[in-house]
Amino acid sequence: MKEIILAAPQVCQACEMCVKVCKRDVFDIEDVDGEIVSVIKHPENCNSCGDCIRYCDSSQVLLKQLRLVVPDFKL
Ligand code: SF4
Ligand code: SF4
Repeated sequence: MKEIILAAPQVCQACEMCVKVCKRDVFDIEDVDGEIVSVIKHPENCNSCGDCIRYCDSSQVLLKQLRLVVPDFKL
């Protein structure tokens, strides 16, 4: 089973902005243990454009997660 990678652990508001602005289908909104949150579904699609970071209210956590899953991620 594939590991679930939360986009912004503990702080995601499920506002869906990352899903809407990402043109590469990296995120998805899912029910994870009864909590609706954004997950990084396709990290391999990320081109490090940084658009999601600009719209996320928890941008620092999202930035950290993206760097964890996309090793060459740069803003
Ligand atoms: S933009 Fe941030 S707070 Fe909103 S769903 Fe995405 S990760 Fe969660
Ligand atoms: S940085 Fe990656 S995840 Fe964020 S909007 Fe750009 S392609 Fe999508």
